[in-house]
Amino acid sequence: MDYQQIIEDIYKEILPYAKEGKQADYIPELAKVDPDQFGMCMHTIYGETAAIEQADTRFSIQSISKVFSLAMCHSIRGEKLWEKVGKEPSGSAFNSLIRLEVERGIPSNPFINSGAIVMADILLTELNNPEEDFLSFVRAVAGSPTIDYNRTVAASEREKGYLNAAIANLLKYHGTIDNDIEEVLHFYFLMCSVEMSCRELSVAFLAFANHRRKFDYAGIQLTASQVKRINAIMQTCGFYNEAGEFSYLVGLPGKSGVGGGIVAIYPLQYSVAVWSPRLNPKGNSVMGMKALELLTSRTKESIF
Ligand code: GLN
Repeated sequence: MDYQQIIEDIYKEILPYAKEGKQADYIPELAKVDPDQFGMCMHTIYGETAAIEQADTRFSIQSISKVFSLAMCHSIRGEKLWEKVGKEPSGSAFNSLIRLEVERGIPSNPFINSGAIVMADILLTELNNPEEDFLSFVRAVAGSPTIDYNRTVAASEREKGYLNAAIANLLKYHGTIDNDIEEVLHFYFLMCSVEMSCRELSVAFLAFANHRRKFDYAGIQLTASQVKRINAIMQTCGFYNEAGEFSYLVGLPGKSGVGGGIVAIYPLQYSVAVWSPRLNPKGNSVMGMKALELLTSRTKESIF
């Protein structure tokens, strides 16, 4: 399969969608990003790489960070993790409060904001140096020691983060989180602010695509079964209230973020990352969704 040629062709084909959608502006710093950017990168488990356009430009990974925080929590807590968070798709927006009240403070899954705020709380409890340890893990799994937080983006999100603060308060009221609300929110926003390129994300997610390879990065170890289960949650919950649509159009486990990034994996074959800041109304990258839909259609490869 000539993935390089395939993604070059796909890029030409999705250009008519280049002006569709709008970048996230509820985080003031993200509103400053040039929306007319696009990058894509793939890695196969056999060592092939394909990359186009701005595959090496770093961007705000936002909710893609939730896969990394889940991986750390699952490694540390094992099955006990599921006492504090579910594994069911929510069918609601990523920042919705509705289900959290109905479910008495136990978030539906670790990929909606409430679930990821619980992951942030667990890491604060379990780790001596949560900020350093999270970054060390991400750097190790991506094989890139210069990956970093963007503290300006994190502070900008905190300043306007009324909804996430409401979620954290509800979680605290129900006793789901143990640490101080401000500390939990600070760490949650910081994890969202990590900046990575498509190439770095694609390398990082190859570790999830290839569950037969030992998963052991900066002391975070997962069994093959745990990796497969994280992939299962990406499949069912990775795109919030568009998880069904992504599954229908693309047919791969994946995760999106409001920075415009999307990662997806084809287990035991490849990982792919795509980025373009213009989002659809549900917070997923317009060109990113299109590119991945065409990728699995062209290659006739999906998990289905
Ligand atoms: N930091 C963002 C938020 O909490 C992440 C949302 C996302 O990428 N879907 O709103």
